[in-house]
Amino acid sequence: MTTFNPAQFFRKNILELQPYSSARSEFTGAATVFLDANENNMNAAIGNSYSRYPDPLQRTLKQQLSAMKKIAVENILITNGSDEAIDLLIRAACIPGTDNVLICPPTYGMYEVAARINDVEVREVLMTKDFQPDIEQVLQAADEQTKMLFICSPNNPTGNLIKPELIKTLLDTFKGLVVLDEAYIDFSLQDSWISRLGQYPNLVILQTLSKAWGIAGLRVGIAYASASIISILHKLKPPYNVNEASQQLALQALRNNSKTEGQVANIIHERNLLAERLKAFSFVTEIFPSDANFLLVRVNDAGNIYQYLLEKGIVVRNRSSQLLCENCLRITAGTAAENELLLKQLETFNG
Ligand SMILES: *Cc1c(COP(=O)(O)O)cnc(C)c1O
Repeated sequence: MTTFNPAQFFRKNILELQPYSSARSEFTGAATVFLDANENNMNAAIGNSYSRYPDPLQRTLKQQLSAMKKIAVENILITNGSDEAIDLLIRAACIPGTDNVLICPPTYGMYEVAARINDVEVREVLMTKDFQPDIEQVLQAADEQTKMLFICSPNNPTGNLIKPELIKTLLDTFKGLVVLDEAYIDFSLQDSWISRLGQYPNLVILQTLSKAWGIAGLRVGIAYASASIISILHKLKPPYNVNEASQQLALQALRNNSKTEGQVANIIHERNLLAERLKAFSFVTEIFPSDANFLLVRVNDAGNIYQYLLEKGIVVRNRSSQLLCENCLRITAGTAAENELLLKQLETFNG
């Protein structure tokens, strides 16, 4: 195992930072009159449900996640979508212009964008042909300034799981943080790595309520890591990063988990059906195995098919510009009716 010491790993200015202390986080106990936060205490135009600042620590939501995921509240950070967590991690760990991060394309695009916004170098180590990280190359590309490695499993846009033994090797040998993005884990039979967090002080797991949980519009992401990493990330997050409506509705979604579980089963069924039906088209050359709610499909002319579908009012994602994804479309498994429409339009396509 690598020795990982958060007190030496994160940026000095962050470790020493005195975080902003909000009116609501300074107060504990019971009160009936709140004159501490300059809110409008009259009856607001839309009623009073949202007239108060939200809980900066999202305590109720964390307790719910803690019970569901069997992990302590101290190991949980809630963010404005998991994209915010990616940005926070980079800003907490990487000195702009000096440090670097490692990604394994083809993968999710925000790791690179978030790093570049922060003037942090991005080192790319191409995946192997079967879309697995190339361990030897990853370790070779890393140096003292390599602060983190992003691994996405199931991976976007390829859809496949990263082999657990490879993740384990990376956790044991990579010297920086391993950020494991599990945005699609709910669609997979593979267990989350949350239960193994205790064994890996350099592991950060990202999850989101945007995919399986169906609330992308509310922007709720979650990071799970050691208590010391989480407390450092809490220092630099905006105090009210998750709004009140999102906190309430996320809680409602999580409490209604049986509905989501049913939908996930249904989405997987639709995805498998879609894969089966797409195989029949002569212009489809490869359908990659998926553990997510989408399919990566290689066709003979992705640009043409993408454009044709657009004209029919159907938007898929053209991933052709990504390394190893030449002529590939990424297609989300929709409802039975939506998938049927897609297939019907493809039947009249003659490329
Ligand atoms: C969609 C997605 C996210 C972003 O999730 P948000 O919580 O909506 O910001 C993160 N990682 C991957 C791999 C994704 O596909």
